[in-house]
Amino acid sequence: MKITPRIITVANQKGGVGKTTTAINLATALAAIGERVLIIDLDPQGNASTGLGIDRKDRSVSSYDVLTGELEIEQAAMETAVPGLSIIPSTLDLLGIEMEIASAPDRVLKLRNALRASSERAAGYSYVLIDCPPSLNLLTLNSMAAADSVLVPLQCEFFALEGLSQLLETVDQVRRSINPELTIQGIVLTMFDGRNNLANQVVEDVRAHMGEKVYDTVIPRNVRISEAPSYGKPAILYDLKCSGSQAYLQLASEVIRRERKLRAA
Ligand code: ADP
Ligand code: MG
Repeated sequence: MKITPRIITVANQKGGVGKTTTAINLATALAAIGERVLIIDLDPQGNASTGLGIDRKDRSVSSYDVLTGELEIEQAAMETAVPGLSIIPSTLDLLGIEMEIASAPDRVLKLRNALRASSERAAGYSYVLIDCPPSLNLLTLNSMAAADSVLVPLQCEFFALEGLSQLLETVDQVRRSINPELTIQGIVLTMFDGRNNLANQVVEDVRAHMGEKVYDTVIPRNVRISEAPSYGKPAILYDLKCSGSQAYLQLASEVIRRERKLRAA
């Protein structure tokens, strides 16, 4: 049976809001429940690759090769220590890609074309998660053109909603121009500190503005989550019991529940 993967891009043009952490841990949680998952690291910084234990020196293939058409998805995917989870790592080559493809008529469609070519060959992934750079650049646009939906991590801080309208506007533009099916997968609040009154206020505000798009699951600020990447492990492998890991497992089940609803509709 041919499986069509659900393609979710994790995007927010702000840095440090939890995109990579969410991509890694949501992917791990989905793999743990038996899904076959591929992460595509589209950030030249390569934090998702490092966080999943793929050292720079071992990145003989990369998302750059996929965008340039050099390699097919299957050829660029590397296995990780998490069973069922593969990654297409990123390398610093990605820094130059904008210039290299800027004049190509299909510059926004590079990733989509690669993924479509691959689904012909039944890559067999049930989820593809894309980790975006902190910018609404050509890489992020490629991810939105290729994706079914956008998952937006928002950090529970004063300026959380700032920038969100620009992000949503970009999603609208992509929908109008190249990907009419693109939806907002959901908004996940990250780095929540319940002792902080402001954080509680932010959660309320975001829920008031964005309604049911916001996941019930809120990811707490948890030091174990920030330690995990230096061991090259997702938090869920590093410390399954910590509050952060538990929250990401809960988020995964919420994502799956919403998926089922969508597919049934
Ligand atoms: P982005 O990819 O949006 O730039 P990251 O996922 O890299 O953001 O997170 C930014 C920093 O915050 C990283 O050092 C990460 O380890 C840390 N971090 C992310 N989520 C949490 C959390 N829930 N608790 C504690 N630290 C976190
Ligand atoms: Mg990141």
